[in-house]
This record gives sequence, C-alpha cells and structure tokens, in this order.
Amino acid sequence: MAEIINGKEIAKEIREEVRRAVLDLKDRTGNIPGLAVVLVGEDPASEVYVRMKEKACQKAGITSFQHRLPFETGQDELLNLIERLNRDPRVNGILVQLPLPDRIDEGKIINAIDPEKDVDGFHPVNVGRLMLGEEGFLPCTPLGIMELLQRSGNSPEGKHVVVVGRSNIVGKPIAMMLLQKQTGANATVTVCHTGTRNLAEITRQADILIVSAGKAGTITADMVKEGVVVIDVGVNQVGETPEGKRILAGDVDFEGIKEKARAITPVPGGVGPMTIAMLLKNTLHAFKLQNHLPNK
Ligand code: NAP
Repeated sequence: MAEIINGKEIAKEIREEVRRAVLDLKDRTGNIPGLAVVLVGEDPASEVYVRMKEKACQKAGITSFQHRLPFETGQDELLNLIERLNRDPRVNGILVQLPLPDRIDEGKIINAIDPEKDVDGFHPVNVGRLMLGEEGFLPCTPLGIMELLQRSGNSPEGKHVVVVGRSNIVGKPIAMMLLQKQTGANATVTVCHTGTRNLAEITRQADILIVSAGKAGTITADMVKEGVVVIDVGVNQVGETPEGKRILAGDVDFEGIKEKARAITPVPGGVGPMTIAMLLKNTLHAFKLQNHLPNK
C-alpha cells in the first residue's frame, strides 16, 4: 500500500519558511517583498486562483498589489500597466493570471514582463535559462513537483522518470528540470504524449511517473510497475455532490495504483497546493535578486 504524499502539509511547511524569511528580510532591509497580481475579466476559476494567491501572500507577509481590470481592457492598456509595474520598486514579482481574453496576445504580455520580475517563469528568457541550466525563475507547478519529490524522500537522482504530457507549463519544464546535472535532479527522462506508441510499455519502466495529461483515467494500475512513485498533476471534474460541489480526480486511477505504488500524490491535496507555495518562494527570490542578496 502506497505512502500518500501530503502536498498540503509540505506546502504549509514551505509557506511557513517563506513567512519567516520575509520577517528576517524586513529586519535586515526594512522592506518586504511585493507581488502584483493582474486579472483581466471575471472568469470564475481565475477569480478563485487570484483570491487564493492574494490570501497566501497576506499570510506570508508579502504585500499583494491587486489589479482587477474589466474584460474589455485593451492590449495596449495592459502593456502600459506591465510597464509601470516593471518600474515600480515596491513590486518584486508580476503575475498575470492566464488565460487572457482572446483579443489579447498572451505571448506579447508575457514578453513585456521584466524577466527579473517573472515569478511565473513563463518569459522566454527564463525558459531559455532553464534549458541552459542557468539560474532564473522556474515555473511554479514543476518547481513544486521537484520540491515534493525531494521533501517526501523520493529524489529523482539516477532514476528513470517518465513524464506524460508536454505542455509548456508542466510537461516540458519538469522534464528539463529533472534532466539537469544537479543535486536533486540528474534523472533519466522520457516524455510521452498523444503521439507516443505503446504508452503502457514506457510508463511501466518508470521509477517515478509524472502525469500531466488533463484526462481522468489516463494511467491505470496495469500501466505501472510495483514500487513506482506517482505524481499526479491532473485536475479533472468527474462529477458533482448533491450539494453542487465539484468532485475532482487526477489523471491516474488512484485507487488501483495505490495498491502497487511506493508513494502517490492525491488529487486534491497533492501537487495543487505546492503551486501557490512556490509562487511565494519565487517572489521571495525576486526580492532578494533585486536587493542583491544571496538566494539561500
Ligand atoms: P495540457 O496543455 O492540457 O496538455 C496535455 C498534455 O498531455 C499534452 O501534451 C497531450 O499530448 C498529453 N496527453 C493527453 N492525453 C494523453 C494520453 N492519453 N496519452 C499521452 N499523452 C496525453 O497540459 P497541462 O497544462 O500540463 O495540464 C494537464 C492537467 O494538469 C490539467 O488537468 C490541468 O488542470 C492540470 N494542472 C494542474 C496544475 C496544478 O497546480 N495542480 C497546474 C497546471 C496544470 P499532445 O501534446 O500530443 O496533445
């Protein structure tokens, strides 16, 4: 029976570490980190994420600057705001909640963010730095997965890690992070997608299996080997309670796989809470970078 990797607890631990570091920085510099959160429109899911991020900042002692713009906001207006935030010394990190309305070119907006304030790690400069193994901002969800592996005692070093999914926000960056010749990484990595033939044959070779496919039931128990460590990134609504609450499931058959795996993340309560914790950590990193302090 698998150990359940408690992402909620690990994320709480990290948020507490950030809170203490913020207090320490305040003592040393007289300043506290600031995160600007930009939301365009009223997408209910985005509203929930933004509120969660603001609350997490508040608890960690990070100032959050909220910019809620109407759905009709034009691209130039948004670019002007980003420009102002780039110049504002109180703002160490800038987060533009995605997706943006169709009219706005997401790539243009991400490109306009100062790479030194890009706490989401989506700017091409930071994507390039990751590829080169240079220091930069790493995207929060894959960074959270690296932390989960490390803190749950499942280091990927020397292991065969199979990643299912090649999105720019999870699959590709996690594969690249795992590949680095660095302590806590240094894995042999295989990336699968819908063009992969014999998916099960490959997933059965995984010591660590990371699934970010966006479809419930993508991985079943017969597709993994005994003793595997499974990180389930997927968040899928699979039903509703009689009270109208969403029932969520990941991408893997949790019940079946937990009988075979050494460790597995639940959904919810696995990868999800780590994403926000890493956003706080990245904001702290940005503050240190901009104040010429070492990032320990
Ligand atoms: P995405 O953009 O939805 O793309 C899915 C990827 O999985 C694609 O690369 C696709 O291959 C591959 N795929 C889909 N079905 C497959 C199958 N049957 N076999 C092999 N590969 C398959 O991916 P994403 O943005 O990474 O999101 C994936 C899931 O993670 C979603 O449920 C999302 O909500 C969740 N998520 C959670 C968090 C969090 O904080 N917990 C963060 C981000 C995402 P092709 O490229 O060939 O189409």
